[in-house]
Amino acid sequence: MSRTKLCPYCKEKIKRDAIVCRYCHRELNEKSEEKNPCQMGIPLWALAGTVGVCLGGVFALALALAKERRHWQEEYTEWKGDDE
Ligand SMILES: [Zn+2]
Repeated sequence: MSRTKLCPYCKEKIKRDAIVCRYCHRELNEKSEEKNPCQMGIPLWALAGTVGVCLGGVFALALALAKERRHWQEEYTEWKGDDE
């Protein structure tokens, strides 16, 4: 096993247990980079559920807004039509 690895950012050879790349000075904290929810103590289904609820909320809001806007536009065109 070599004691070096490639920096994921600048692809320079750096020490295997380096925390900061000596070339580009970026942090190499692999633990947070490996976005494994199990390691963070959050089950995947909980994460997916949260994201799903957020997306659902945003979608519902967007839909409501779009509906409302269409309603306004209809009213406006109706009103405009009567006026002329
Ligand atoms: Zn680097």
